[in-house]
Amino acid sequence: MRKKIVAGNWKMNLTLGQAEQLINDILQAGLRLKDGQEVVMATPFPYLLKAKSLLKNTPGFYLGAQNSASEKSGAYTGEVSAEMLQSVGVDYVILGHSERREYFQESNATLAKKIDLALANGLKPIFCCGEPLEVRKAETQNEYVAKQLEESLYHLTEEQLKNVVIAYEPIWAIGTGLTASAAQAQDMHAFIRAQIAAKYGREAALRTSILYGGSAKPSNAEELFACPDVDGGLIGGASLVAADFLAIIQKLG
Ligand code: PEP
Repeated sequence: MRKKIVAGNWKMNLTLGQAEQLINDILQAGLRLKDGQEVVMATPFPYLLKAKSLLKNTPGFYLGAQNSASEKSGAYTGEVSAEMLQSVGVDYVILGHSERREYFQESNATLAKKIDLALANGLKPIFCCGEPLEVRKAETQNEYVAKQLEESLYHLTEEQLKNVVIAYEPIWAIGTGLTASAAQAQDMHAFIRAQIAAKYGREAALRTSILYGGSAKPSNAEELFACPDVDGGLIGGASLVAADFLAIIQKLG
């Protein structure tokens, strides 16, 4: 069956020393993940190599990056390619986070290119989608998310889709303390799965892990993860506190 995943998105936080401390605190808890459960830590680029060396011997713990370039290589000052990430041992890459879409003007078409390069280099994209508040208020969130999926993912083959994780992150819930209710999350996750089924078939849809992101924390993770179509979480703020991140992982069941 599909994987259950808790992924931490550290964003632009922590120094190297703090990053090492956080990873060590998490690993030293000695959590035993169950079959089919995975934890991903998406660190800032400068810490990837160090994080890899710390994580590599712990089963079920994987390394993530928070972005990768839309071009293969060359004169793109400041960019980091999928091939580079692969070469330092990155397993997952978050693509299409709403902060990247908003502050760096990443379009669905740009994200389609990033996804292709990530997959071509053996990285598993965690593809983020989700609507802003005005879209939720207008009750057009399904159409909005359907378009994001269509324009960034539907050029993939069913085989390629096997390596893609989807994260539904309503923008109004990210870093705001507002969480989608379990019912709102389940409705959207079921909708996303139905869209995938319509495009790729039921088997592909049942195989796709769909994570929830948006102010998930120890106090609400259990209810969210209990929803039948919620396969774990993409965690921002709470992934920076070892005790909170560990508690959320344990809510996977
Ligand atoms: C995120 O940025 O992916 C996120 C879910 O953030 P937070 O958990 O802080 O809302």
